[in-house]
Amino acid sequence: MPRIKMYTTDFCSYCNRAKRILESKNLEFEEINIHGSAEMRDEIEELTGRRDVPQIFIDDTHIGDDDDLAELAFSGKLDEMFNREGEGTQMEEIKKNSDGNGLEERNVIIIGGGTAGFAAGIYTSRAMLEPLLITGDALGGQLSLTLDLENYPGFFGTEAAKFIQGMQEQAERFGTEVRFDRVTEVDFNRQPFYVKTYDQAYLAKAIIICTGASPRTLNIPGEEKYGGRGVSYCATCDGFFFQEQRLVVVGGGDAAMEEAIFLTRFASEVYIVHRRDQLRASQILQERAFKNDKIKFIWSSIVEEIQGDGEKVTGALLKNVETDETQVFPIDGVFIFIGHIPNTELFESVIEMDDQDYVVVDNLQSTNIEGVFAAGDVHDHVFRQAITAGGAGAAAAISAEKFIAELENRAYPGQ
Ligand code: NAP
Repeated sequence: MPRIKMYTTDFCSYCNRAKRILESKNLEFEEINIHGSAEMRDEIEELTGRRDVPQIFIDDTHIGDDDDLAELAFSGKLDEMFNREGEGTQMEEIKKNSDGNGLEERNVIIIGGGTAGFAAGIYTSRAMLEPLLITGDALGGQLSLTLDLENYPGFFGTEAAKFIQGMQEQAERFGTEVRFDRVTEVDFNRQPFYVKTYDQAYLAKAIIICTGASPRTLNIPGEEKYGGRGVSYCATCDGFFFQEQRLVVVGGGDAAMEEAIFLTRFASEVYIVHRRDQLRASQILQERAFKNDKIKFIWSSIVEEIQGDGEKVTGALLKNVETDETQVFPIDGVFIFIGHIPNTELFESVIEMDDQDYVVVDNLQSTNIEGVFAAGDVHDHVFRQAITAGGAGAAAAISAEKFIAELENRAYPGQ
């Protein structure tokens, strides 16, 4: 049996994601936490050329990070490597059944396992609808990239990882079935609706879309080339690689402030590069950043290029947008926190979206297709908080319950 080894650090949300993938496949692994060990950090850098975690090996083969592992898991290749009957082998049968005959039929399918998805799970399971929640890649959604929760009433200072675990346990306790899988295709032009994943295909009377949003990239030269080699989107995961080094953080929102403050645990200096001369972040986080001696601001500036020596980042080409002056800023790492884009690719030309690709919903969380609802950052580009996503998930669940009752000519409670 091949042996799996995973290098991790403390607070690494992407590592948690990789662990959950392996746990969902019942695969044992050895975790090597390199946090605090400069020797192991250098060793992993030498072995892989990477300055990010997790880094995963199967026997002596380096397979990459959590994204690479997810690809292997969802495509069935991981099962093949372990000579197991992969559930992915059902695909031929699924293709045959794409007209929907003989497929497992559910009341509600919730697509996405963040705060909105789990809130929808809790509410629809308490309505005895036995929902199926398909988590997608990032269990916990954007909270999985956060350390602590400070602004969710009742959860002051709670670790985000514990909060996510709690949401899942709560949803499961009431009867939500949680599957670690990724939806690959939907057909909402039929009732019941058709949903295909890597592992399975289903029919459902109602759908709640809670696919959230993913970090936005700068799309500048050097960003992709030096990804994991000095370019990072997760301070808590990768900060440890930058002990006593100089870092740039790009962005002026809450995430940029929070992550820049976290990075000062390791870095000698953190330069926040923001495209305007005013921050977007909340007052409390602005104050904390301004007060931190290790944080300096480079205002009205953008990063035009990330430069390196072929192996790792060595500098950032900065341009002042007011004067057009440019400078090469010597730096060891660039952390990018410039907001998010909604995860709606799957629903292109299927449901109505606005000009920024957010799903359009009415005040009952209903999309333009009757029986298809959406909640959370996939439709909300104004508030984007865990608490608002949770509220929207609950509302979508109540609307879905009502929709199913009407579909089945049943009285909806309270009517
Ligand atoms: P955000 O609030 O949308 O901020 C994104 C920042 O990136 C803005 O300052 C924006 O500049 C900048 N930006 C966008 N595109 C850029 C580009 N192409 N080049 C350079 N800069 C660019 O995103 P966020 O900070 O990720 O926060 C998302 C949501 O989560 C917010 O609602 C936030 O309140 C919440 N959040 C809360 C907490 C907390 O409360 N502890 C922590 C993290 C996030 P402009 O300002 O010029 O537009």
